[in-house]
Amino acid sequence: MDLMEYQGKQYFARFGIPVSAGGVADTVDEAVAHAERIGYPVVVKAQVMIGGRGKAGGIKLANTADEVRFHAGNILGLDIRGHIVRRLWIERASEIAQSPDRLNEKGEPKAEEYYASFALDRSAKKYLGMLSAEGGVEIESVADELIAKIHVDPMLGLSEEACRAWVAAANLPAPAREGAVGVLMALYRCYTEGDCELAEINPLILTTDGRVHALDAKVTLDDAAHDRHPEWADFEAATVAAGDSREALAKEKGLQYVGLEGSVGIIANGAGLAMSTVDIVKQVGGAPANFLDIGGGANAEVMVNALTVISTDPNVRAIFINIFGGITRCDEVARGIVEALGRITLSAPIVARIDGTNAAEGRAILKANESEKLIMLPDMLSAAQKAVEIAGK
Ligand code: GDP
Ligand code: MN
Repeated sequence: MDLMEYQGKQYFARFGIPVSAGGVADTVDEAVAHAERIGYPVVVKAQVMIGGRGKAGGIKLANTADEVRFHAGNILGLDIRGHIVRRLWIERASEIAQSPDRLNEKGEPKAEEYYASFALDRSAKKYLGMLSAEGGVEIESVADELIAKIHVDPMLGLSEEACRAWVAAANLPAPAREGAVGVLMALYRCYTEGDCELAEINPLILTTDGRVHALDAKVTLDDAAHDRHPEWADFEAATVAAGDSREALAKEKGLQYVGLEGSVGIIANGAGLAMSTVDIVKQVGGAPANFLDIGGGANAEVMVNALTVISTDPNVRAIFINIFGGITRCDEVARGIVEALGRITLSAPIVARIDGTNAAEGRAILKANESEKLIMLPDMLSAAQKAVEIAGK
């Protein structure tokens, strides 16, 4: 489960990682009320499950109630690469120290923004910590030699000495080092005891008064540890309430759904086939609108649910149903698709490919029901091409 920034910060705070005081707002008035309580300047921050909000206009500094009103009004409803902003986090603005000896690309003193994270390195069977003095930008764009990496044996844990050496290896400036060690030790506890798959701070900053502080939070909780954390239920409820509506609806219907940014809606059975379907749509020059695995059954009920979720995405121009019948026979799948078509109004035409057990019977049923809303093609490649062609029109 991914957390929104404010939830990540709430989680960080439990482990003693310093974050700014703030409040959650779903309306402009709530945003102003929080700002008045917190004191100016504040930062108005879009809460969506996607990075790069700053560049997309989803993060703004405000010095007065009018400025909060203005920015909150603009950011609520903003579409950040397919994610509509429904919730804001208002926090006290931090003053970031400027480096006396490092310059940014514009020749100005560089802001003291760092990057820190823990994740699992499966091939090494260890935790991987990454730390860089070049934070505030996407870590993928930071040169590898500027990222200090540390492998931590889960059985031994992270010692303070190892942590101090790591901070030195990352070349963090002297005034930030002790503070960074404190934050990283706490981040390690959050990652391990908090059962995270990823715990990332970008940027981690040095303030003008010498404190090291988390300005952003990206946390993925390990769903396998769910039973150990009854307190995660609050996160889940808030994510469904304020998150991506497509994802919330899919969750409600018990479907495995991940929203993407393209125009070809995808329905497949089994995670592997769903991923291959995403791949083949890309391979033939299309852009998938989602990943959706309907799991084992493919009866009319499941098809109606899947098609309903996909139809709420305004970007979808074609729907590619790719089913491999195993225990679920293709004739049942075909009847499910036809029945679903009779029950809901589709936003885009369907291209269906079904194969496996009773494929011939299934295809005959689809063929008999072909229309401009339903096209049947026998193989995955030609079906993908057809769906992409329709979506591109
Ligand atoms: P992201 O763009 O989604 O990663 O959002 P972040 O929360 O990381 O914010 C993006 C950038 O906005 C940061 O790298 C900072 O440069 C800037 N920023 C965010 N909060 C503050 C703040 O309190 N004070 C200052 N000076 N800059 C901030
Ligand atoms: Mn960030």
